Amino acid sequence: MSALGWQHHTLIQSLLSRGPTSEKEFHDMFEGVSKKNPVNYPRIFNDVLLKINKELSYVQFELRGCRNQYDGEVYYGVVNNVADEQSKLGTKYTVPQIAFYKGVIEAIAQDGTAQGCISSIDALNLRLESQMTATNSESQGAAVPAALKYFSISQKEKTLDEFVRDKWLCHTSDGNIGLGVRSFLDLRSWFRGNDVPPCEVCNEAGVKAELCRNPDCKARIHQYCLKKKFGRTRAEKVCPCCQTPWPYVMTKAEALEEMDEPSQPTQTELPQTQPTAGPSRKRQRPTKSERVEDDGAGPSQPCSQPPARATRRSSRLR
Ligand SMILES: [Zn+2]
Ligand SMILES: [Zn+2]
Repeated sequence: MSALGWQHHTLIQSLLSRGPTSEKEFHDMFEGVSKKNPVNYPRIFNDVLLKINKELSYVQFELRGCRNQYDGEVYYGVVNNVADEQSKLGTKYTVPQIAFYKGVIEAIAQDGTAQGCISSIDALNLRLESQMTATNSESQGAAVPAALKYFSISQKEKTLDEFVRDKWLCHTSDGNIGLGVRSFLDLRSWFRGNDVPPCEVCNEAGVKAELCRNPDCKARIHQYCLKKKFGRTRAEKVCPCCQTPWPYVMTKAEALEEMDEPSQPTQTELPQTQPTAGPSRKRQRPTKSERVEDDGAGPSQPCSQPPARATRRSSRLR
């Protein structure tokens, strides 16, 4: 086992104490400890992250990058790869709060229109009893149902504020409740396990994305991936799955921005210790067979199938 140096420890420590960190801040931190700017030295940057992740994997943690799907900005964070909310949220939140969080993220992730949000009213009206099976643990015994049942609207309001403050949730620009960057970082395998359809360009879950105009096609693409895919090309703008024309007009602001950004390293270049944990550059445009092999948790369905609007989990909410 190769030991990590103080620079590695500094990076890990900073991410742990700050929580999700913007790409710019993380690059600055990296440059601070290594004297190398990640944009100019992507190889060194990737090697350092790989080395860190090799060590973190022993305790099922991972240093990871992801995009905030509402604005396309990249964030870095250290996530816990143990797949239960209790271990991620447990010490800070109560059982009903965790059940409430699960209800909110399920409602957002299972939305067939990929708006990536839920109104505050809908969030406050979520029934927590439906989360029972998922959050029940023997140690809580019979106290759990009552705690969930009597979890009041005002407690839910307060909890929403706490989750927004801690970046598990966010207020979207149109005044709704969306996923926070911490959730985007943390829920990658949960999205797969819950059949949230992936973006046809980057293969990450399409929580906030645009849908193909063909009602029989389940393709969805993130706004920032559309820009990447259609922005620079004069080729026909069609759905990669069904070839239906995909209306896309780059705004003036986007066009200007495009000219300013030569090529930024993004999450797609973030090294992964586990090959199945996320997309790599070569998987940026996944083929169907690659997608099926992509992970064991929940392979995505081929494009031709209609969207799964009500899965087992979402139907529990109704
Ligand atoms: Zn995408
Ligand atoms: Zn399509």
